[in-house]
Amino acid sequence: MKHDIEYDIEGRVRGFYLLGFGTGTYTCKCVDCGKPFIGDKRAIQCLECVIKIVEKKLLSSKMLLLRVQEYMDTNDKEINHLKVLISEQLRTK
Ligand SMILES: [Zn+2]
Repeated sequence: MKHDIEYDIEGRVRGFYLLGFGTGTYTCKCVDCGKPFIGDKRAIQCLECVIKIVEKKLLSSKMLLLRVQEYMDTNDKEINHLKVLISEQLRTK
């Protein structure tokens, strides 16, 4: 059995953590839905519940939605710019 600190460092480097969920081999019980799940020794939420929280946060936050929209708009402009450049180049060849 490893010391807690070693387990912690190894787990944090190799494992995946998101809110109350962490990957691992322990059988845990979710504090939200009460279902058992396989995760890190210190995990308190199952991945399904964590994903629900992330979705809810994203969809309920106007700031986050605006950021996503802005990102998509920016990419759209870049893509359109590239389309124009390609068609201009093709016309001269
Ligand atoms: Zn859960």
